[in-house]
Amino acid sequence: MTRRALVIGGSLGGLLAANLLRRSGWDALVFERNGEDLTGRGVGLGTHPQLTAVLRRAGIAFDETMGIKVPRVVCLDRTGKIMIEQPSARTMTSWSRLYRALRSTLPARDYRLGKKLRRIEQDADGVSATFEDDSRERGDLLVGADGIRSTVREQFLPRVQPVYAGYVAWRAVLDEARVPREAHRDIFELYTFCLPEGEQLLGYPVPGHDGDTVAGRRRYNIVWYRPADSVALDDMCTDASGRLHSGGIAPSLIRDAVLAAVKADAEALLAPQLAEIFLRSEIFFQPIFDLESPALAFGRVALIGDAAFVVRPHVGAGATKAALDAMVLADCVGGRDMAGGLGRFESVQLPFGRDMVALSRQQGAYLSAQLKPVAQRRGDEWHRDVAALLYAHGTRSDQIGEIVAARGLDAYF
Ligand SMILES: Cc1cc2nc3c(=O)[nH]c(=O)nc-3n(C[C@H](O)[C@H](O)[C@H](O)COP(=O)(O)OP(=O)(O)OC[C@H]3O[C@@H](n4cnc5c(N)ncnc54)[C@H](O)[C@@H]3O)c2cc1C
Repeated sequence: MTRRALVIGGSLGGLLAANLLRRSGWDALVFERNGEDLTGRGVGLGTHPQLTAVLRRAGIAFDETMGIKVPRVVCLDRTGKIMIEQPSARTMTSWSRLYRALRSTLPARDYRLGKKLRRIEQDADGVSATFEDDSRERGDLLVGADGIRSTVREQFLPRVQPVYAGYVAWRAVLDEARVPREAHRDIFELYTFCLPEGEQLLGYPVPGHDGDTVAGRRRYNIVWYRPADSVALDDMCTDASGRLHSGGIAPSLIRDAVLAAVKADAEALLAPQLAEIFLRSEIFFQPIFDLESPALAFGRVALIGDAAFVVRPHVGAGATKAALDAMVLADCVGGRDMAGGLGRFESVQLPFGRDMVALSRQQGAYLSAQLKPVAQRRGDEWHRDVAALLYAHGTRSDQIGEIVAARGLDAYF
């Protein structure tokens, strides 16, 4: 009889898990708490060969319609002059482009919207999921792909909580047609860094609203990391009515004063090309968190993606890690011995997740260190060195490849 997997969370990790489990002979259904399709959400996303290899296994050819190649990486000074540049082989895409491609591989009836998980129960014969609408589903395996605030993880590891890293990422995205002509000429096609004191900004082109990678219909994406202690963060996450949105505030609720302050800083601190794009964009911010789970398998339940480990965005590998989790899980539970398979999954993906988190922490260390006294943050400042930053950009996929090889994931490709 075909075994049934309940996948909680309909983002990239959940979609990949459902796709690959189905290819391993499972019937897999996805349950997403949002009531509406997520296509309009998300902005830029870095890719790596490891991600494209898993996508190929999921039946998605990563061709030129999927992302935009950036031929060079540069760092601009405050006046907009290029301080340093080198070739780049990175391909940038958008969250929604990947989401759209993955959604199209799953029958619509098996992707259930408006299904917020409340509770899991399991016994020797199966696992049951109860949703907020009081409906219930039963399966042989449950995959927790429900992100950083995972309800699945909360049930099995209630003490594991995201830890604020001490800085936020301001995000900006602008249609190519609205990018000022000079900024477009200077940087649109490039991967661009700018390093205000104690901060880091990067910008790159991404597919347009409808996933289009054709020139003229793309968008420009900015990520600007800025230190903020927890008092400042609480203020930024407080809406105009005085309500605090711990963990992150919806873009539409960010107070005008907070937006005005970051825009003034953009004019004062950024290279003019980047400031102009930032000021014309829809902007919002995301606090950066670390999260590490000490276990990934609980009876018939497995954690993958951001529910298991959150990799800070410097490595550009949140989607890549979720893809590798999904691939290893699907392979491990392909045989009849599910308990043994889940044990193998955990023994491979736990150390892999820890290594990925460590790599991303190292890259963000100097941003976290900005809240420390000057003498204590010297050691972390190395990661702000321009040459080191560009070197890390160029070798990122190799670093991930080394972790993949060291942890034995090569065997799963
Ligand atoms: C809407 C969205 C946009 C994003 N945009 C970007 C981006 O632009 N750039 C980038 O680098 N990364 C982005 N990310 C994060 C990136 O997608 C993740 O790192 C990557 O997808 C791996 O995470 P994941 O699939 O494990 O979890 P996530 O992507 O966080 O997805 C978790 C999913 O689970 C759902 N969920 C949560 N709780 C429940 C519950 N109780 N019941 C049912 N469903 C639940 C959430 O609604 C969400 O869809 C985005 C994530 C989301 C959800």
